[in-house]
Amino acid sequence: MQNIAFETSKGGEKMTKKVMALLDAATGRMKCKVCGKEHFASVRSGGHYYKGSWQCVNGCKI
Ligand SMILES: [Zn+2]
Repeated sequence: MQNIAFETSKGGEKMTKKVMALLDAATGRMKCKVCGKEHFASVRSGGHYYKGSWQCVNGCKI
């Protein structure tokens, strides 16, 4: 049996994977890829989403 390490990132990458998938950019509707929970992201003026919008309310992580 091969021992495949769960090592997808080398050299300390700081990129965070988004658990939320944007379903509708117009309304900011997002869905969690893990648990399927949907919510509407808060959009700041200028079209930017709040940082927390990309996190599931259930705290799911990929
Ligand atoms: Zn979730």
